[in-house]
Amino acid sequence: MSIAANLGFPRIGRRRELKAALEAFWAGQSDEAVLLARAAALRGGHQALQGACGIGHIPSHDAPLYDHVLDHATMLGAIPAGYGWRGEGPVSLATSFALARGARGSEPERARGIAADAPALEMTKWFDTNYHYLVPRLDADTRFVLTENRPLALYAEALADGRRTRPVLLGPVTFLLLSKTVDGSQALALLPRLLPVYAEILRGLAAAGCAWVQVDEPVLATDLPPGAADALRLAWRSMAGAAPGLNLLLASYFGPLGDNLELALSLPSAGLHLDLVRGAADLPAVLAAGLPRDRWLSCGVVDGRNVWRTDLRGAFRTLESVAQARGGAGRLMVSPSCSLLHVPVDVGQEDGLDPALKRSLAFAVQKLAEVRALTLGLEQGEGAIADALGASDAARAARKSDSRVSDPAVAARLAAVAPEMLQRGAPYARRATAQAARLALPVFPTTSIGSWPQTAEIRQARAAHGRGTLDDAGYDAFLLAETEAAIRWQEEAGVDVLVHGEFERNDMVKYFGEQLAGYAFTRHGWVQSYGSRCVAPPIIWGDVSRPAPMTLAWWQRAQALTARPVKGMLTGPVTMLHWSFVRDDLPRDVVCRQIALALRDEVAELEAAGCAIIQIDEPAFREGLPLRRAEQTNYLRWAVECFRLSASAVADGTQIHTHMCYAEFNDIIGAIAAMDADAISIETARSRMELLEAFESFDYPNAIGPGVWDIHSPRVPDSAEMTALLRRAAARIPAERLWVNPDCGCKTRGWAEVRPAMAHVVAAARQLRAEL
Ligand code: GLN
Ligand code: ZN
Repeated sequence: MSIAANLGFPRIGRRRELKAALEAFWAGQSDEAVLLARAAALRGGHQALQGACGIGHIPSHDAPLYDHVLDHATMLGAIPAGYGWRGEGPVSLATSFALARGARGSEPERARGIAADAPALEMTKWFDTNYHYLVPRLDADTRFVLTENRPLALYAEALADGRRTRPVLLGPVTFLLLSKTVDGSQALALLPRLLPVYAEILRGLAAAGCAWVQVDEPVLATDLPPGAADALRLAWRSMAGAAPGLNLLLASYFGPLGDNLELALSLPSAGLHLDLVRGAADLPAVLAAGLPRDRWLSCGVVDGRNVWRTDLRGAFRTLESVAQARGGAGRLMVSPSCSLLHVPVDVGQEDGLDPALKRSLAFAVQKLAEVRALTLGLEQGEGAIADALGASDAARAARKSDSRVSDPAVAARLAAVAPEMLQRGAPYARRATAQAARLALPVFPTTSIGSWPQTAEIRQARAAHGRGTLDDAGYDAFLLAETEAAIRWQEEAGVDVLVHGEFERNDMVKYFGEQLAGYAFTRHGWVQSYGSRCVAPPIIWGDVSRPAPMTLAWWQRAQALTARPVKGMLTGPVTMLHWSFVRDDLPRDVVCRQIALALRDEVAELEAAGCAIIQIDEPAFREGLPLRRAEQTNYLRWAVECFRLSASAVADGTQIHTHMCYAEFNDIIGAIAAMDADAISIETARSRMELLEAFESFDYPNAIGPGVWDIHSPRVPDSAEMTALLRRAAARIPAERLWVNPDCGCKTRGWAEVRPAMAHVVAAARQLRAEL
C-alpha cells in the first residue's frame, strides 16, 4: 500500500485568519477563549481541506499559535525565569507571548508575575528558509518537564472530529541544537534529561491509539557538530523503546542527508522521509543500501519550498523507480519535500495573475492534489492518472514556449558579460582618493541607511492611491512634499550625505520587482515570516530586464533640492533573489546575474545624472548561505560576482555603498571584502561594536559604517552613548575609514524618535572629530 502524506500545512490561513486572530487578541479586542476558538477552527478547517485533497496522513500539532519551536520549549518546560511560569503545569498564553514578543507590562502579565522588562527570546532563521523561529534559552541547570501533552490533546481533538492524524514533533536533537545556552554549556549534554519527556509524550500518544508520529530531525541535512551523531543514536533508541507499537517517521528535509545518510538509516524508525527535491542525490544510495522492506519510505517529490507546479511525469518516474527497487509500491508514502509552511495556501484565489503564469503555479492545496495523484498512480498504475500527467506536460510545454519567459536579448547580454565588467577600474585606495576629492566630506561623515518613517499618513495616501481615491498627481505631490521636508530636515540636522527617504516605496523588493520584466505579484500569496508577520514574496517567472529607469526620477528630484550629496538607493541582486520565489527552470545564479545586469544599468544611469554615491542594499546576502559548508564557497563566489556586476560600471570617483543588517560576519568576511563596496554599513549597536571584530581581524580594507543607533528599539540613546560606541569602533577601525550612521533604515520608527536620534548621531560624529 502507498499513502498520500503531508508534513505540515501553512498555519496562517488563506486570508491570514490567524494573523487577524492574534492581532485582535494582542490589541485587547478579543479574549483568550476567542483566540483559541479561532485557532482551533482554522486548524480543523485545514485538516478537513487536506482530507478533501485526498491526504491519508494528515499532520497535527503542526499549527502553533506563534512558532513551533517556541511551542516545544514551553511544552518541555524550557522556560527561563521571569516569565511567570511556576515550574509545573500548563504554560499560560501570557507567558508564551512574553517569550515570543517580550513583556508589554500588561495587566495579565503582572497578574502572572511576568517581569516588566522580560525580553523576547532571540529570533533566527529556520535553516535556510525565510521563516524565523524563537531560540529556546537553556543552561546547564535546565530541567525538562512535560507541561502539557499538546500533541496528544491535538490528536484527540482531531479524533473527535473523526480524523486520525499524524502528530508532528520537533526531534529532541534538532531541538537542542537550535537552542542557545546562556552559560556556554553544551546543549546536547541536556539530552539525557530531555528524553524521558519525549518518552512520556510518545507513550501518551500510543495509549490513545495513535499509529504514526512524525519526528523532524532536519539537522540531518546539515554538517553535524561533534556529538550530534551519538546524540541522535541515543535519542532514537530511547524514543523507539518508549512506545514499541508506535510508528515513528524520521523526517529530514531542506537538503540531502549526504554523509549523514548511513546514520539516518541506522536510526530505529518505522519510516524515513527523504526530501527528493533538494536531496534527490540521496536516492540511489538509499535504494542501494536496501532500506529494509519492513520500513516505510516517504518520498518528498513535491517541492515544499517553491510555488511551481510539479513535473508530475518526472516525479512519477522517480516513484516508479523506487517501487521497482523495493519490489513493489508497498510501504511507500508520497509527500511534499518538507512542511508546506513555506508556500502560500491556494493559487485558486489569485484572480489578478496572468492566466499562463497561474497555470504553472501550485500552492499548498495544489501541491497536495499532486501528492494525491502520484499516490493514485502508484496504487492503480499510470493509466489512472493519465489526465493529470497530460495536464502537467501541457503546462510545462506552455511555460517553455511562453515568449515572456525567455527573452533572447537577456540571454545575449548575459553571454556577453566579460570579466572586466565584474571589477571596478581601480583598487579601493585609488578610488578613495578620487572620491575624497570629489565629495570633500569631513572625517566621520554622517549618513543614514535610506528610509525615513513610513507614517500613517504615507500608508493612507498609498492606500488611497491604490483605491483610486487619490489621483496620480495628488499622490505624487504628497510624496514630493514628504521628500522635500526630509531633505530640509536632514540639512538642518547637519547630516553630510542625505537620502531621499524612500517614501514612494511600498517594500524594498516589491518596488523594484514591479518595475522589472520577469516579476509577478500575488494578491494572497502570504507566507509566514514569524508570529503573525507574513510576506508575499514576488515570483520571478521570466527573464529579468529593466524596461525603464526605476529610481532615477526620485533621486533627481531630491538632489535638485540640496547642494549636499543625496545617495542613490537600490536593492541589490542577491536580496532581490532571496526574497522572491525563483523560477525553477534556470539555475539561481543565472537569475541573479540577470537582476544584476538590470541594476547595473540603473547604477550607470544614476551616475550619468550626477549621482556621486550609490548604495546597493544586500541585507539578505548571508541568508542565501547553503546549509552545507561544502556548498558555501560556490554560493559566495557567484553572490559576490552578482553584486560586483551590478556595482562596477562606475568611475573611480563614484562611491558605491552597501548595507547589510544584523549578521554573523566571521565566516563570510572574505566574501564581504571581495564585494569591494567603497563603504558598507552594518548593524553593530546592539552588539556594542563586537561585530566589528570580524572586520578588524580580517583587516577589512574599505570603509565601514557601524551602526550607532539600534533602530529596532523605540528607545532613543543620548549622544554620549553613541559617542562611546563610536569610540569603540574607532579603536578597531582607522578613523579615515569610518562612517557614522544608524543600524538600519528607519521606516518602522516614528519621527519623534528619528529626529532626536539623528541629531545625536551627528553630535557623536562632531565629538569624535573634535577628539582627533
Ligand atoms: N535602504 C533600506 C531602508 O533603509 C534598507 C533596509 C534593509 O536593510 N532592510 O529601508
Ligand atoms: Zn538593514
